[in-house]
Amino acid sequence: MSEKHLRRKGQGETERPICNNKRCINYQHDLLRSYIRKNEKFKPNGWECPDCKFKMWD
Ligand SMILES: [Zn+2]
Repeated sequence: MSEKHLRRKGQGETERPICNNKRCINYQHDLLRSYIRKNEKFKPNGWECPDCKFKMWD
C-alpha cells in the first residue's frame, strides 16, 4: 500500500482498507472490521469485504 493515497481524517483515526476485487460491487469501498471469537471475547483480526468476503489481515 502506498502512503500517498492515505486520506487524513484527523482524530488519529486509522485509514480503512478498501476492496480490491474488481468484480465486487463493493470494489474500492471500505472494508468492515472483522473479528474472531477467542476465549469468549471478540478480537479484531483484520478487515473484510461485506460482499465478496475479501479478507485483509492485520
Ligand atoms: Zn469486495
